[in-house]
Amino acid sequence: MYYHLILTDECNLNCSYCRGKDYFSLESKNEPLENICSLPDSPKYSPENLYSFLKKDSDPAVLFYGGEPTLQSDLMMEFMDNMPSCRFSIYTNGLLIENLPPEYIRRLDTIIISIDGDRDTTDGYRGIGVYDLVMANVGYINKAGFSGEIIGRITVAENTDIYNSVIHLLENQIHSFNSIHWQIDANFWYDYDSRPGFNEWIFGSYNPGISRLMKRWVEIIKSTGNVPRWYPFCGLVSDILTGICPSPLRCGAGHLNYAIQTDGNIIPCPCMSGMKDYYCGNIYESDPGRLKKVEPVGECSDCDIMEFCGGRCLYSNIVSPWPEEGRMIVYESVRNLKSAVESVIPEISDMIEQGFISAGDFRINKYNGCEIIP
Ligand code: SF4
Ligand code: SF4
Repeated sequence: MYYHLILTDECNLNCSYCRGKDYFSLESKNEPLENICSLPDSPKYSPENLYSFLKKDSDPAVLFYGGEPTLQSDLMMEFMDNMPSCRFSIYTNGLLIENLPPEYIRRLDTIIISIDGDRDTTDGYRGIGVYDLVMANVGYINKAGFSGEIIGRITVAENTDIYNSVIHLLENQIHSFNSIHWQIDANFWYDYDSRPGFNEWIFGSYNPGISRLMKRWVEIIKSTGNVPRWYPFCGLVSDILTGICPSPLRCGAGHLNYAIQTDGNIIPCPCMSGMKDYYCGNIYESDPGRLKKVEPVGECSDCDIMEFCGGRCLYSNIVSPWPEEGRMIVYESVRNLKSAVESVIPEISDMIEQGFISAGDFRINKYNGCEIIP
């Protein structure tokens, strides 16, 4: 099982698509809050409870998560030193990664690091100087002897040209990312009314950018025999090739991926912190194999592309922060992705048949924090 382990609610950045939007939270919509409880800023359970919970899991994988988890690097190292055999990853903004000495960096499987494309795009969303710091710290990770996977994680919004952002991460001269993931900032906050350009951007920039990227991805595969690990593409192609459809929620939330809150309660996803109605168990008495399962509900169950999509995001499915008009635009982006993926399957299948590549080249580490339907 995969677990997001929430180490802190604090963050040292205030990115415009994340904390910069706190104003658009549930409270701002006057939603009834009786079933949402506030939580300690950092873990308040005894570490022994966490260790004994994880010991009951035959193959636990822990993703250190926040806020910004490196703000709790001492606690993180304490957990790494004491947890039973466990795979470790981190989801970080990368600014304080040097808080982790090289021997701890080397013990991580995966480092997911937020970077939104080139300097202007990244700094525009995340703050001046962030791009250069992240790139410098990727250098630290490499120097530390890290041999796992570094995933460049892009949050995509109206100031992003998705094609340029992905190609920049792939081709820049400072650090070329082979593994890239992206996620659209959509239907997550109560902010649809303040996004007048979203519709135009999806149809004029994002969707055409995805189609263009897909062509470029296949060209790279054809010319090199190497499959760049672009998570949304690899995950979907791999499932189609291996026939794993229909898909459950592709991020794994609520069935193979859970989050451990700072009070020890367990929820399907870290974004659902404090949503008591969706608690799936706790570290004190639950058995990892018997955590409650949570499925997407509502309009996804009647959707014509549910088998492909899986429901996109459980949190947004439950909270439904955007009106139907906005949700339909997101639906069209999933349809466009579906067409782009399906259009390349024959060509990819031919390359596999010829032995130029193998189906296994598309396999990704599922449920590691990358949400396959962006
Ligand atoms: S496209 Fe939208 S409505 Fe359809 S399954 Fe995905 S998230 Fe649900
Ligand atoms: S896609 Fe949604 S439900 Fe899944 S991990 Fe991300 S925020 Fe949570």
